[in-house]
Amino acid sequence: MKEEQSRKRRRGKNKKPQKTQPSLLPKHSTKLHKKTHQQKNPAHQSSSSSSSLKSSSFLDKMKARLAGGHFRMINEKLYTCTGKEALDYFKEDPELFDMYHTGYQEQMSHWPELPVNIIIKWLKEHSSSLIVADFGCGDARLAKNVKNKVFSIDLVSNDPSVISCDMANTPLRPSSVDVAVFCLSLMGTNYASYLKEACRVLKPSGWLLIAEVKSRFDPNNGGADPNMFSKAVCEMGFTSALKDFSNKMFVLLYFKKKIWV
Ligand code: SAH
Repeated sequence: MKEEQSRKRRRGKNKKPQKTQPSLLPKHSTKLHKKTHQQKNPAHQSSSSSSSLKSSSFLDKMKARLAGGHFRMINEKLYTCTGKEALDYFKEDPELFDMYHTGYQEQMSHWPELPVNIIIKWLKEHSSSLIVADFGCGDARLAKNVKNKVFSIDLVSNDPSVISCDMANTPLRPSSVDVAVFCLSLMGTNYASYLKEACRVLKPSGWLLIAEVKSRFDPNNGGADPNMFSKAVCEMGFTSALKDFSNKMFVLLYFKKKIWV
């Protein structure tokens, strides 16, 4: 709902028409307002400390707004540039990456269910010997929650276990992984090259698991047609294994790499 509202606002009559989305899908929800932290025992405060409480709560609100603004700006950037440009952007100022992820976590805290948890569950139901590549791993939650060997990949990382690179060109060997995951990470105008890279590193019959924001697959609202998207992925060398639209927030699209690719 919030996504819909923010989309409608972006498309307000007085605004310039939106540029055609160069990415596969429209943007993530950009709603991001941190709830202000409530002081526990205001009754115990003196009047001067109560006024300082008010100002600190005001400051908290302002900080949250600023953080929300930064998040939206970075999010917009990631959807409208290539992976290489995004890599350069974060290399120039690594603090932007932390800012992005603080905002991202805040936003996700409002989702009733996280798609990464669905993928973790899927992995737990399969053999732990499957080798996984998590493309656009964020805080590497997936790797931290399964027994599998996981190659966590993202643009920047303070965590040495994360391979920091543009996921269009990973250092992974060809046909070396069993499961390639893109959980809310098909950003960037060259998203197709990420899928091609996944195809390169996947073993024959390997799994490609994609979770994406539902609105991005809503053709009535500028999103991609899920069937067209699925067809395009299949043409890269996959067969469709699952299309799950049951969740309100995200879509799950699973594929298997063809044997002969
Ligand atoms: N998969 C995680 C994080 C999703 S946020 C989760 O579900 O929680 C999307 C992530 O994709 C961000 O961390 C962003 O930095 C990463 N990303 C976007 N484009 C990328 C690229 N070209 N190469 C590597 N990572 C990328």
